Amino acid sequence: MNNFTLFAANAIVVLVMASVFFIAGRARHEPYWDTWGVANLVICLALLCYMAGAHLPDALRGALPNGLLVLGISLRWRAARQFENRHAPLALFFLPLALFLVLSAAPLAAGSYPAFHLVTNVIQTAIALACAYEFWRDNDDKSLSRKGLILAYGILAATFIVRFAQALLVGDGFVRQMSLDTILTIQLYVALFHFLASSAFALTLAYERDAQKLHHLASHDGLTGLLNRRAFEAEARSFLERNPEQPFALAIFDLDHFKQINDQHGHATGDRTLEACAEAFRETFEQSAIIARWGGEEFVALLPDLSPVEAALAVDRLRANVAAIAVPTQNGVMHPSLSAGICYSNAKRTRDLETLISVADSGLYAAKKRGRNRVEQVAVTAA
Ligand code: GH3
Ligand code: MG
Ligand code: MG
Repeated sequence: MNNFTLFAANAIVVLVMASVFFIAGRARHEPYWDTWGVANLVICLALLCYMAGAHLPDALRGALPNGLLVLGISLRWRAARQFENRHAPLALFFLPLALFLVLSAAPLAAGSYPAFHLVTNVIQTAIALACAYEFWRDNDDKSLSRKGLILAYGILAATFIVRFAQALLVGDGFVRQMSLDTILTIQLYVALFHFLASSAFALTLAYERDAQKLHHLASHDGLTGLLNRRAFEAEARSFLERNPEQPFALAIFDLDHFKQINDQHGHATGDRTLEACAEAFRETFEQSAIIARWGGEEFVALLPDLSPVEAALAVDRLRANVAAIAVPTQNGVMHPSLSAGICYSNAKRTRDLETLISVADSGLYAAKKRGRNRVEQVAVTAA
């Protein structure tokens, strides 16, 4: 392919990708989809201007396509920042273009082609590296899509570096005719790879994040942020399968007189009480515990790695921590309390989750009957 055809191929790819981003963004509210789309349109325009080169007025031939490319990559940088939920005021992303216009004015006026290319490619390198950096920095997510994006921008930056090295080394011998410039040919092949790879990886990264969000919504309770009942059952069953011998305690909790709290102080206070209790669960139990909102004002916890005595102490500590919560209400502070039933299982006792929950529930029932704000432990029969 000659350079003209390669420019056309690049233009088609970015145009198609712009449409894909606009379409994908239609059902979503995140701003980065449209920013990506607009960035690709600006890059497409830049590529068309490179192709029209000879037909453009002298004053615009260098400045217009390179300026548009600087703006297009800057907008992709903005999309990357928006994707990562970072501050991305629009004006900031016009600064590289302003810098380009100021710094390239003198070389253009003097007709110094190498100096102009030096300025252009140094700025383009910096923005491509800024894009790579946004996907790399402060991120625990080491998915292949993210690595692919960092690589795609790294490679783009490398081609700009080669280009400004070419301007530095070759000086006035810099090839002015597009069709004879073999480094440009290589750069255009690499650009084609970059545009395909960066768009594909940006899409897969966004879809992976959507899938994670949906999974989180489906497995967690919206009010307390704890696991929901379905996710608890799945995680508890998986724990039992993975650790067939490991002893564990199972506890079920129910807030005392919660209906009264709602009736006396309002539903909002009831909600705040549930949130505060969930926080107490998170703070009291170890990371290894599987904690969930079982439903309404009921919670459940599977506690591995504890002896029966330690588990009973941990559950009682939770009870005391909940009793110490002070929920502000219109009539002063209110202290909630909860009751709990707990049972313990090991390799010799039943490990059937439903059975254990019903045993723990009988303990909860007994705790309610014996006055509430207490924990009752129930023995589990042999398997
Ligand atoms: P007991 O001590 O016997 O457990 O009495 P109780 O009043 O807590 O028992 P009951 O099961 O009758 O009441 C539970 C109440 O929890 C009823 C329901 O309106 C309330 N509830 C369930 N889910 C929520 C919620 O998400 N927010 C609020 N504010 N209330 C909820
Ligand atoms: Mg209840
Ligand atoms: Mg209750």
